[in-house]
This record gives sequence, C-alpha cells and structure tokens, in this order.
Amino acid sequence: MARRLEAAGISFHLIGDCAAPAAYKVAAGVINPVTGRWMTKSWEIDQLLPVAEKTYREIEATFGIEIYHPISLLRYCQNAADAKRLGRRMRNPRYANVLGRYIPPGEGHPDLEDTQGSFEIQGAAYVNLPLLIETLQSHYRTGSQLTDQPFDYTRLKTTSGLWTYDNIQAQRVVFCEGVGLSQNPWFGSLPFTPAKGETLILQADQLNLPETLYHHKKWILPYGDHRFRIGATYDESDLSPEPTPAGRAELMQAVESFIRPKIDWQIESHLAGIRPTTPDAKPLLGAHPTEAGLYILNGLGSKGASLAPLMSDWLFQHIYKDVPLSESVDIQRFESPCD
Ligand SMILES: Cc1cc2nc3c(=O)[nH]c(=O)nc-3n(C[C@H](O)[C@H](O)[C@H](O)COP(=O)(O)OP(=O)(O)OC[C@H]3O[C@@H](n4cnc5c(N)ncnc54)[C@H](O)[C@@H]3O)c2cc1C
Repeated sequence: MARRLEAAGISFHLIGDCAAPAAYKVAAGVINPVTGRWMTKSWEIDQLLPVAEKTYREIEATFGIEIYHPISLLRYCQNAADAKRLGRRMRNPRYANVLGRYIPPGEGHPDLEDTQGSFEIQGAAYVNLPLLIETLQSHYRTGSQLTDQPFDYTRLKTTSGLWTYDNIQAQRVVFCEGVGLSQNPWFGSLPFTPAKGETLILQADQLNLPETLYHHKKWILPYGDHRFRIGATYDESDLSPEPTPAGRAELMQAVESFIRPKIDWQIESHLAGIRPTTPDAKPLLGAHPTEAGLYILNGLGSKGASLAPLMSDWLFQHIYKDVPLSESVDIQRFESPCD
C-alpha cells in the first residue's frame, strides 16, 4: 500500500511496531497456485500471480535486493483418491496453466517416499518476506515516514473530517495489522479465525535435493546450501506466540516419513507465528461503515505473499479512484460488519 501511495505522490505516514512478533517474520513466503486437500486452484490465482511477480520484481530493481524466487514444485499424491483427483484436474482446461507432468511412482527422486506418484505445479515461487519488509521499513524510516512504535488506538481522534494521531493529521487511516486486528476498536469485531503456524529450518550436510519445493504431507523447501525449510503446522486452538514441542514433533515426523535415508538433522531454528485468517478464507478489505476515512486491509491468512500486491492495489483503486471492491473481499459481505 505504501509503495502505491508513494508512486502516486500521495503523502502518508506509517506507524508500526517493527520489533513485535509478526507472521511475515516466520513465513516461507511460498506462492502455490494449487493448494489444499482437494488440489484446487487458489482463489483468483490467475489475477494474483502476474501482479505479485511485477510488484516484487519492481521492488527488487528499486532496492537492489533478491526477494522473488520462482521454483519448480512437486506435489506427491498421498493415496489412490489423490491420484484419481489429479487425473480429473489434468483433464480440466482451467488447470492447463498450472499443472505439469505426472511422474509415476518410482520415477521421482530416489531419496523421497513415493507410493502414488507426484505431479508438477507451475507458477510457484517463494518470496523472502522478512527481507522485503525490513528493506521497506529501512527505506521509510530514512524518509521519516515511519514511526516505529506500538499503535495506541486511544490516541487516534477525529475532528472536522480529519484523523489525528499526536501531531500527525490524515484524511484516511488504513489498518494493516495482521492479528493485531483483534485489539482494533473499529474493526476488531469482524469475523476472524487466527491460526498459529510453526516451521523449522533444518540443516543436513549429507542430503542433496534439487531446488524444488516438495509438497508431501507438509512442504519442504531446500535452499540449496544444505538448509531446508519445513512447514507448516496449522492450529486454531493455541494462539500462543511460542514454538511448541508438539509442533516440532509434527514437522519432524512429516519430514522423516518423506525423506528415505536416515538423516542426522540439525535444527537451525524453530519459529512460530499467527496467520490472520478469516472464516471464508478471503481477505478483509474496505471502508468502515460509519467512521468515514477508516479502512482495513487484512485477512491475508496463509497466502500473504500472493495476495498482498493485488489486494493493496484493489484497496488503493477503491479509495482513490472509486472502483468498487469485489464482494468476495469487501467487509460489507458480513452482516453488520463492525458492530
Ligand atoms: C508458520 C507460518 C508460515 C507461513 N507461510 C506462508 C507462506 O509460505 N506463504 C504465504 O504467502 N504466507 C505464509 N504465511 C502467512 C503470512 O505470514 C501472512 O499471510 C502475512 O504475513 C500477513 O501479513 P499482514 O501484514 O497482514 O500480517 P503480519 O505479517 O502479521 O504483520 C502485521 C504487522 O502489523 C504490526 N502491528 C500489529 N498490531 C500493531 C500495533 N497495535 N501497533 C503497531 N504495529 C502493529 C505487526 O508488528 C506487524 O509488523 C505463513 C504464516 C505462518 C505463521
């Protein structure tokens, strides 16, 4: 959003707690066009992918960083029903741009458990979200557009159509606060089902896997330097910020059931975060129904890397060009959204 405002020459100020726990700090940033148990195309993926790639490539060029990494993706069928479902998807023309070859059992990488075969998913990538956000934070801090502190909702006041926060005045305030939403007095009653996720970064000097994202029961992302990211758990009942022994065991069990050789894994890090997820798995965008000038961009759930560029574009077009929001993301889809 800030990048879009900057490009349009609209002045803005960011207030955010850069050191606070946040989902982006632990996310692998995977963009996967075919997801879920039913192997369906991710919502709006054909629109999301080109905007995401363009946005990340522009940021790379502007700041001289590498954040967007296209990667081949292999998903392993777990049972015969999976393989049958895949056959149906492959015959469906809607899937022609995202599904590649089927690799029968026994013809894939010998180190990987493979009883039902695997298939290629095209258009996958991973985005280095911590580097992206830290780069933008440092840019806006240098330009004095970023105040690094917890946002105190009681200090946001409105008078004569303007919003003031200490000495900052603004016509509009856009809340992009992930799970911080539950503390927000204006938007905090929106339907929200945060989900904790844990992930491991492992080292294994003796394991060499091609740089492909492997989706078995969990996904494994080899970084190419004998480091591997394993993800992720999904838990709506425990929203504590810390990683847990149960999460580590679930991830290790998944990796050990997928990688055939016995590996002496070293755990480099074990991270946890809370995804800002909604009951209908769609983002939360739009204007507050009664408080003019207040907006929200949230609900990116498990898919912030693919969703954020297009969703910020949609909200920008809505605020500054009066383009109506798609009903599927507009908070007006809920009855009495902010009561
Ligand atoms: C284990 C795990 C793995 C994941 N893997 C992927 C993946 O592979 N691909 C993918 O696309 N997504 C993944 N996600 C989801 C992804 O992290 C989120 O979709 C994305 O980070 C949401 O972005 P956000 O900006 O809405 O929230 P966040 O990333 O949580 O950021 C919210 C920001 O708001 C700030 N903030 C909140 N409240 C306040 C306040 N009161 N005052 C000041 N600042 C405040 C926080 O400090 C933070 O900087 C994963 C998440 C987890 C937990």
